Amino acid sequence: MSNKNQTEATTELSFKCANCGHMYPTDNLREKSCPVCGHVNNIEEGCLVNVSNEGY
Ligand SMILES: [Zn+2]
Repeated sequence: MSNKNQTEATTELSFKCANCGHMYPTDNLREKSCPVCGHVNNIEEGCLVNVSNEGY
């Protein structure tokens, strides 16, 4: 296990589904349908959140 600088934690852009609340990675897309409910979320709707990956 390597000691990573915690101030440089990996942040990932994710959509938070406006319909069901499921969070899923954007894959660098501007809009993407929710894998759970199929609702299409896009960046303009402000559904984008930063998720910090803590550990594994
Ligand atoms: Zn959904």
